[in-house]
Amino acid sequence: MVVLLVWVEGADVTVDTEKNVRDVDVIGRVHSTESFGTVDGPGTRFVVFCQGCPMRCQYCHNPDTWEFARADGTGPGTSVTVGELLERYERNRPFYRTGGITVTGGEPMAQPDFVAALFRAAHAAPAGRIHTCLDTSAATFSAEHAGRFSALLDATDMVLLDIKTSNPALHETLCGLPASHALELGEELARRRIPTLIRHVVVPGLTDSEEECAEVGRIIGDWDNVVGLDFLPYHTLGKTKYEKLGIDYPLKGVKAMNAARAKELRKVALAARAERRAERGR
Ligand code: SF4
Repeated sequence: MVVLLVWVEGADVTVDTEKNVRDVDVIGRVHSTESFGTVDGPGTRFVVFCQGCPMRCQYCHNPDTWEFARADGTGPGTSVTVGELLERYERNRPFYRTGGITVTGGEPMAQPDFVAALFRAAHAAPAGRIHTCLDTSAATFSAEHAGRFSALLDATDMVLLDIKTSNPALHETLCGLPASHALELGEELARRRIPTLIRHVVVPGLTDSEEECAEVGRIIGDWDNVVGLDFLPYHTLGKTKYEKLGIDYPLKGVKAMNAARAKELRKVALAARAERRAERGR
């Protein structure tokens, strides 16, 4: 039984060779897995890195996950079934007592049917329900096509959502896609009340102004499901991957972000969030 679910530039392509496919038989395209992730959701987690991302964030430290596999199954990444991934989880189940599974990228929302099947199967695991977490930049989501992601969000316990920048023009330059995807997903998650942790990478000279950070705070002040805010200082550790892949590093000359300043800016964002919530009577 073969089912290949892929997203390709500008179109959502589902190749479903049989109806009534069991979740454990659904196949996705994966870059790699990590058995003991500690920064991708609560507790210790089994982390699945999807292959393929339509964004091109200038500070991305995983450019090796960008390219999508081709619809015929060739190209980068490895095809793997939901069942195989759950088997790997079960080998270390005792370590995940307060954790679970996180799917990240690349962009997991580029393979919504695969991740939905994985999360449903995780919830139904014979040895006990597994907590599911989606780490996304929302690059393929839009409010207009929210139905396409309904099954995935129905099976998602928590989301880690990137807000790259609050500035729409900068968003396109910095990431190659509009800001609307993450904002529209944020609205949908709030409507569904899915616990969401927001992440913002603070890049010197680009996303580190007080206005920018306050605006991030105001945006999330409208979402009552936000359970945390991470301000991640930009670092230059990804540079060597670009060199290995022969890709020009876009942030040449930009220094690593001062971690203490990133903490201060997080406070600016939290103050703006509190102000916005007060305006809303929350
Ligand atoms: S969304 Fe994530 S994987 Fe995609 S380019 Fe940006 S940082 Fe890299």
